[in-house]
Amino acid sequence: MEKHEQLQPELNLVETIRLQQGMTFKFKQTEGRFIHTLCEGELVYQLGFTPCQVVGKDLYQLFPDKSAAVKEDFYRRAWAGEEKVTYEGEYNNIRYLASLRPVKRNGTVVEVIASCVDITERKKAEIELGSTRELLESFFESSLDAIDVVDLSSKIIRVNSAFEHIYGWSAEEVLGRGLPFIPSHMAEQAEALNRKILAGEQIKNYETVRQCKDGRLIDVSLTVFPVRNAAGNITGYAGISRDITEKKRTEEFLRKTDKLNMIGHLAAGVAHEIRNPLTAMRGFVQLLRAGHESKSEFYDIMLSEIDLINNIVTDFLMIAKPQTTDFKRSHVGRILKQVITLLGAEANLRGIVICLETKPNTAEPFIHCAEFQIKQVFINLLKNAMEAMPGGGTIFVEVETTGTAHGEIRIRFHDQGGGIPEERIPKLGEPFYTTKEKGTGLGLMMCFKIVEAHGGRLLFDSQLGRGTTVEITLPAAEI
Ligand code: ADP
Ligand code: MG
Repeated sequence: MEKHEQLQPELNLVETIRLQQGMTFKFKQTEGRFIHTLCEGELVYQLGFTPCQVVGKDLYQLFPDKSAAVKEDFYRRAWAGEEKVTYEGEYNNIRYLASLRPVKRNGTVVEVIASCVDITERKKAEIELGSTRELLESFFESSLDAIDVVDLSSKIIRVNSAFEHIYGWSAEEVLGRGLPFIPSHMAEQAEALNRKILAGEQIKNYETVRQCKDGRLIDVSLTVFPVRNAAGNITGYAGISRDITEKKRTEEFLRKTDKLNMIGHLAAGVAHEIRNPLTAMRGFVQLLRAGHESKSEFYDIMLSEIDLINNIVTDFLMIAKPQTTDFKRSHVGRILKQVITLLGAEANLRGIVICLETKPNTAEPFIHCAEFQIKQVFINLLKNAMEAMPGGGTIFVEVETTGTAHGEIRIRFHDQGGGIPEERIPKLGEPFYTTKEKGTGLGLMMCFKIVEAHGGRLLFDSQLGRGTTVEITLPAAEI
């Protein structure tokens, strides 16, 4: 009875060791060899052994000589009394971690107990993680864009070499400090950005200005996104800044030269166009001074010539005037309604009705635009349509959306005018091409320029005697 009670816990212990996922073994040194005295656990079988095969054997009877020798070194250290000897072994495609503990009696090591766990999966994950980390590291370091990583208190944790190169601060100078490149006059804007990021928003390709160590200001395109830990919590932010100073300078230069060229070209044309009515008026003034008859007719002609000059100058100013590049998200339907109301009285006088139709079941037509410019385009196209319909009629204006993200907005103006001969269509948009007595031939040119600047297209489709359709396609803004 007494014996049974003592035996029970011991049996339980052996059972537990046997059923464990890992492996426990013991060894002793006898006659200079390390002989295993116990070996239990599921891992034993996975390694391809059975306890009987191991117990009573030394390392050289179980493993190839080379790996036995490596293990024997660890066995020896544990036998010499060293605590916490560990090693990694691999057998039968299984990697395991063994920890050895000497058991001492009266200060002498009498046996060593080893416990082993299977680390095959962990090792694989570690290797994968390692190569992912290496890959990320090489992206980070070889990026031509400056990258900074900050913690939640906006202190810099890391920067890459492009950061050092672009901004001029070395990593040591900035680590642990706040971002040094925000120009003082932009502190407020940077704060606003910070709030956005803290609210969980991402910032993509935001164009702004940053200051280098030597005080130089550079144009950058910023992308900022949160960095999360394994649990998904935001631990900081990474900012990527691309130096776009050179690109900006080129763009500005092209824009200016393009505009100067155009204005120079136009100014020559304007001078030429104005000379004709001026010559005519000079003639009439001379006639009037000579005391000629039918004066009222002269006055009418002179007034009409002055109107023409006025038209040319107005259109010219519209093109030459510095244009606002203040783009904002606008509803095309709303702009069209405003323009149609504006032209309502004139249409009425000409016996013309303007009908606005939005295709059903399409998304709201939003575009990114300089509203004033787009209005000018609509006004010009509607005026042309009205001028093409001396007998009155109906102009249909149609709006259609082909989708939101990367979709397009199409606006069509159908008139019932005389149409445009096919061979003349390529001439539309050339400065001073006009078939009208008081025309300037500048309206369509301006329309083409504006639509192009908005990333859109302008197309003409016309049938003589039937009418003309002008179609504008513009990129849709996201809802
Ligand atoms: P303008 O209206 O001052 O003549 P535009 O550049 O606006 O200058 O138009 C150039 C020419 O294109 C017009 O003179 C006309 O011949 C032709 N045109 C433009 N729109 C239409 C239209 N809807 N129907 C017929 N002809 C048109
Ligand atoms: Mg016109």
